[in-house]
Amino acid sequence: METFNTLVVAWIGIGLATFLALVVFRIRAPYGRHARKGWGRMIDNHWGWFWMELPALIIMPVLSLIGPSAKTPTLLLLTGLWVLHYAYRTLVFPFQLRTKGKKMPISIVLSAIFFNLVNGFLNGYFLGWLAPSAGSVFSIHASIGLVLFFGGAYINQRADRKLIGLRKNGNGYQVPKGWLFTYISCPNHFGEIIEWAGFALIAWNLPALSFALWTFFNLVPRSLNHHAWYREHFPEYPKGRKAVIPYILI
Ligand code: NDP
Repeated sequence: METFNTLVVAWIGIGLATFLALVVFRIRAPYGRHARKGWGRMIDNHWGWFWMELPALIIMPVLSLIGPSAKTPTLLLLTGLWVLHYAYRTLVFPFQLRTKGKKMPISIVLSAIFFNLVNGFLNGYFLGWLAPSAGSVFSIHASIGLVLFFGGAYINQRADRKLIGLRKNGNGYQVPKGWLFTYISCPNHFGEIIEWAGFALIAWNLPALSFALWTFFNLVPRSLNHHAWYREHFPEYPKGRKAVIPYILI
C-alpha cells in the first residue's frame, strides 16, 4: 500500500508539472481546433478518439472485478459509473463527431493511451486489490459525489452534443450560444471536471483523487486555449464569457 500511495503521489506531481508547463508555455495540444502540422504521422480523428479511450474502458473494470477485494456495492457502483462514462467516450462520442477528413497526430493518441493505461491501472488495481472495504455508498460525501457525478456527466454530454450540432449543415466553427455557453466557453470541460470530482468523493481514495486532479490539470489549460482561440477568431466574441468556471476563470 505504501509503495502504491507513493506512486500515486508521484503521478499527481507529474500532473501538476504538466499543468504548469501547459499554462506557462501556453502549449496547445494539437488536436481538434488546435490541430497543426509538425507533430508526426496522423490518424483519422474518429478512430483516434476510439483508440485513445479504449484502454480506460477495459483496464479499470477488468482489474477491479478480477481482484480478490470483496465486491461491495461501492466497488460495483464505482466500476459501473466508470464504464458508463468510458462507454460513452469510446463508443458513442467519437462516432457522433461530424467533422470530415479531420486528423489528429498519432503522438497525441499514444500519449492519451499511456495516460489511460496508468489512470485505469491505478483506479482498478486499488479497488480490486487494495481497497479495504471501499467505503459506504450511503455516506454524506458519497451522496454529494453521486449528485456531482451525474450532474457533471449531464453537462458534459449535453455540451458535447451542442458543439457537435453546430456542424449540422456542414458549417465551420461558430460562436456557441445559450445555456451554459452564456457564461463559459467550455461547458463540456466544466462538466467533466465536476464529474470526476464527484467520482473522487464517492470513491474517497487517493487514485480517484489523482484522476480528479488530472482532469483539472488537463482540461483547464485546454479550456484556456479554446477560449483564447475563440477570441482570436471571432472579434465579436462575448466579452463577459469566461473560459471554464462561470464568473471566475479568465
Ligand atoms: P471540443 O469542444 O474542442 O470539440 C468537440 C467537438 O465539437 C469537435 O467535433 C469539434 O470540432 C466540435 N466543435 C467544438 N466547438 C465548435 C464550434 N465552436 N463550432 C463548430 N464545431 C465545434 O472538445 P475537446 O476535444 O476539447 O474535448 C472533447 C471531449 O473530451 C470533452 O467532453 C472533454 O471534456 C473530453 N476530454 C477529456 C479530457 C480529460 O482529461 N478527461 C481531455 C480532453 C478532452 P473540431 O474537432 O473540428 O474542433
